[in-house]
Amino acid sequence: MSETFLRGRRAIVTGSNSGIGLGVAEALAAAGADVVLNSFTDRPEDHALAAELGARHGVTARYIKADMSKGAECRALVEAAGGCDILVNNAGIQHVARIEDFPVDKWDAIIAINLSSAFHTTAAALPGMYAKGWGRVINIASAHGLTASPFKAAYIAAKHGVVGLSKTTALEAAGRGITANAICPGYVLTPLVEAQIPDQMKTHNMDRETVIREVMLERQPSKQFATTDQIGGTAVFLCSEAAAQITGTTISVDGGWTAL
Ligand code: NAD
Repeated sequence: MSETFLRGRRAIVTGSNSGIGLGVAEALAAAGADVVLNSFTDRPEDHALAAELGARHGVTARYIKADMSKGAECRALVEAAGGCDILVNNAGIQHVARIEDFPVDKWDAIIAINLSSAFHTTAAALPGMYAKGWGRVINIASAHGLTASPFKAAYIAAKHGVVGLSKTTALEAAGRGITANAICPGYVLTPLVEAQIPDQMKTHNMDRETVIREVMLERQPSKQFATTDQIGGTAVFLCSEAAAQITGTTISVDGGWTAL
């Protein structure tokens, strides 16, 4: 595949003004795709981030505000972008608590942002992909889409749901030039993970270094965080011709977590 084999393709990456989403947008732009960045904020720096990324890679990059907790805004994002060839459902939040203490508003928000948003954007994007006979739906699930841990009920339920949604999307789109898959990262050091550290320190009564080594990377045999570049590279691979028959499955980028 040529280095800019995605030239002329348009990608939407939800939740992409930081972390993994930004890494995926960066990798897709480096491969030549025009990109739409998104989050729920509408700050000058969000638009500047897109402008800078686009200029650096010689592609069109736009930032479109849409709150992924709201179904209508998810669908409006796809419409405002003018549809897309590559849809990366990445927006996500986390909350850590025992089930009996889990705040209902957090449960609802996690299911909406981490799972239902992918249903809405996929529903809005598929007709355009069918019309072109080409498309890639890439859902950023998690090792927690394949395995569980205590205290993360909503996140694990949502991520298992994302894996299921990817499979159904793949079956409905099979044979029409469209693939749908879930990337399942282990721990990647991003703001979302950073924000979990204080909670984990409290829950486990440990200092920062111990919680990282013994709790967060406890199940990651490599004992190394995955990087946003590695997730981006996996997304680019899924867009390639080599991956055209990879559909309805999960790709783990987890340092061996799910081999245990
Ligand atoms: P992050 O906090 O850096 O990024 C999350 C992104 O989602 C941000 O851009 C944020 O603005 C956006 N977002 C949050 N709420 C939103 C909303 N209502 N509407 C639109 N955008 C919203 O976190 P991250 O670690 O980069 O996580 C990205 C995805 O990767 C998530 O789905 C997460 O579950 C998944 N993931 C992360 C890890 C990890 O270790 N970091 C591991 C596995 C899976």
